[in-house]
Amino acid sequence: MLLFTPGPTPVPQNVRNAMGDETMHHRTPEFEAIFEKVRKHLFNLLKTDEVLMLSSSGTGAMESAVVNLCGNTLLNINSGKFGERFGKIAKAHGLKNVEIINEWDTAATVESVVNAINENSDIDAIAIQISESAGGLRHPVEEIARRVKEINPSIMIIADGITAVGVEPIDVTNIDALLAGSQKALMLPPGLSILGLSNAAIEKIGKGKGYYFNLATELKAQRKNTTAWTAATTLIIGLLEVMESVEKIGGLDKLYSDTSIRAKAVEASLKAIGLHIYPKSPAKSMTTVDDENANEIRKILKEAYEVNVAGGQDHLTGKIFRINQMGLISNYEVAWVVNAVELALDKLGRRTYDGTANMIFNEITFGIGK
Ligand SMILES: *Cc1c(COP(=O)(O)O)cnc(C)c1O
Repeated sequence: MLLFTPGPTPVPQNVRNAMGDETMHHRTPEFEAIFEKVRKHLFNLLKTDEVLMLSSSGTGAMESAVVNLCGNTLLNINSGKFGERFGKIAKAHGLKNVEIINEWDTAATVESVVNAINENSDIDAIAIQISESAGGLRHPVEEIARRVKEINPSIMIIADGITAVGVEPIDVTNIDALLAGSQKALMLPPGLSILGLSNAAIEKIGKGKGYYFNLATELKAQRKNTTAWTAATTLIIGLLEVMESVEKIGGLDKLYSDTSIRAKAVEASLKAIGLHIYPKSPAKSMTTVDDENANEIRKILKEAYEVNVAGGQDHLTGKIFRINQMGLISNYEVAWVVNAVELALDKLGRRTYDGTANMIFNEITFGIGK
């Protein structure tokens, strides 16, 4: 079965092998040496002033960023389940919360954020997804962050890059916390989350808040290549292998350009067979199609063609399907996925199969036919 869900993503064989060794103790020079190497890779990946690894799924990084960087009112952008989650976290910690709500295919505008901060001077942090995985859309985070900092540089910008870090280069000039998670673009099992922090964020964190997720406690330890609590040793060893695998294919720029071409080729091939792309501003992390037969298509893909793609949640249940683009993915697998979608449409009596999806995918991926 081909796993093509936008999280979890497949773990490459060499990474699984690297994680298969005996358990390493986390308070040893051997593990600290690995930790130091991974930190260096993360500085290169995130381009932020500081980096931290936490033993938690991605939501732990979201919670720690909100708790440590927001002291008064959080403005969160809700164009889907993950954006909504930031608001719930704020409320759970007794913080005030203002929300900009959009349909799940619609990104936030710079104007809406500017209006919100002008109307409410209590807002001291903004939380937004770079890629909102619920509907597969890209928010204009960099532009929003730039405008907000022009108006009030003390407002902290929390950017959830869990389906963006490792997918495309992100301009972190005006971002204070950039979040990543292991089971999406980083091709690992779940359980490790990552935060990139600006110097301004470190200043605001001060002595930190909370206990397990107190980022000041972690900063102190991780600058010495250790962790405050037991490190997710196996996942960190796996992350080193992932980063080295990326170097082997030609580095992050190659990963980003491969992902970008793949996303473009999949989108064009699905449009060519009459399908509609759901988000108005698609993210490169996944291709999201809205379709009245979304459930049937997913079922046929799984049962007849061994392809597992994700559906939708809440009001989009049965209305969309999402194809992963994150990670090191072989073209022959993607070619099969778009071909299988076309075969599924034939089975549903929607079009006569003629190989169009595959042809368009190959034309764009390999630059032939034009
Ligand atoms: C997956 C995901 C998360 C975190 O979810 P966990 O299940 O806690 O790992 C957060 N934001 C986005 C955009 C995601 O895709």
